[in-house]
Amino acid sequence: MSEHLQNITEPLLQWFKENKRDLPWRKTQTPYHVWISEIMLQQTRIEAVKSHYVNFMKELPDLKSLSLVPEDKLLKLWEGLGYYSRAKNLKKAAVIIMQEYNGEFPTSYEQLLKLPGVGEYTAGAIASICFNEKVTAIDGNVLRIISRVLGSKKNVLLPETKKEVDKKLEEILPKQSGFFNEALMELGETICLPNGTPECEKCPIQGDCIAYRDHLTSEIPVRIKKLKRKKEEKTVLLLVTEDNKIAIEKRTEKGLLSGMYQFPNWDGFYSDESIKSIINEYSLAPVEVSFLKETKHVFTHIDWYMKGYLVTVKQKSDRFLWVSHKELLEKYALPTAFQIFAKMIL
Ligand code: SF4
Repeated sequence: MSEHLQNITEPLLQWFKENKRDLPWRKTQTPYHVWISEIMLQQTRIEAVKSHYVNFMKELPDLKSLSLVPEDKLLKLWEGLGYYSRAKNLKKAAVIIMQEYNGEFPTSYEQLLKLPGVGEYTAGAIASICFNEKVTAIDGNVLRIISRVLGSKKNVLLPETKKEVDKKLEEILPKQSGFFNEALMELGETICLPNGTPECEKCPIQGDCIAYRDHLTSEIPVRIKKLKRKKEEKTVLLLVTEDNKIAIEKRTEKGLLSGMYQFPNWDGFYSDESIKSIINEYSLAPVEVSFLKETKHVFTHIDWYMKGYLVTVKQKSDRFLWVSHKELLEKYALPTAFQIFAKMIL
């Protein structure tokens, strides 16, 4: 049990009781109302949702009316909220509830999760707020608050961080789980704001917040997006003279593997014929070209797909440094990406 985290429960519940905002969807907390509001609130500002919600409820006040609404009318009601698949999923789910649950809203987290458009957060919100099930409802607000309270610099965009927060919250969930989940959401929306602008002086759990104590609110939560990996193809040549000297060259002083040595290589994959003409350009007169291996080397953001060839040559060229096997092993730093080829000929 996280003793530290447990301290936030009481002050948070008390604060929510006294400061709860008067929002249209809080007037009647039936599953239908909570569901529609939670779906509308995904990726949409509260202010934009308010009037849409009121209008939606006027036109489609219950599951039955939603399940029967023509698509054109539904999309019109959704106009301005964006992400229209949310509206279509609402109708699909309403039809399922009418047909498979006799029009009664499913009551458990597991059942709710099976409905179209209902993810872990929404299922948790409905199950806890409407049916008092002891489940969490974790969104970006909750991840931000908990990371700050714990002073955690773990990347909140990773599923494992969310899992960890979920586990910690489950341990401290009070009986009024729905009220607690709502309190956390409210704190995240009104006080523990993102982008380094939380209003800590108004926060009811300030005394237990490590980020506040250590002045880390602008650094936490940590959000590191997975970078798109770059793919590079390379043709690597192990140029070897008849007296067993191998050509190497120094990489540039900047960038990836800077200052290390490498076998001569070119971007892209080349045929045997193209390799021969490259070698001829250096006046090396290739005697024989033989394929060694195809391999992949993974760096942080780049993958190198490498094809290695052994090329015996007649002369040396000043363009490269010609070293013996012993020198290569003992004197020159060869990155792992190239060592795999070196091992094949040493
Ligand atoms: S003290 Fe500040 S950073 Fe900590 S939970 Fe409260 S608002 Fe968020």
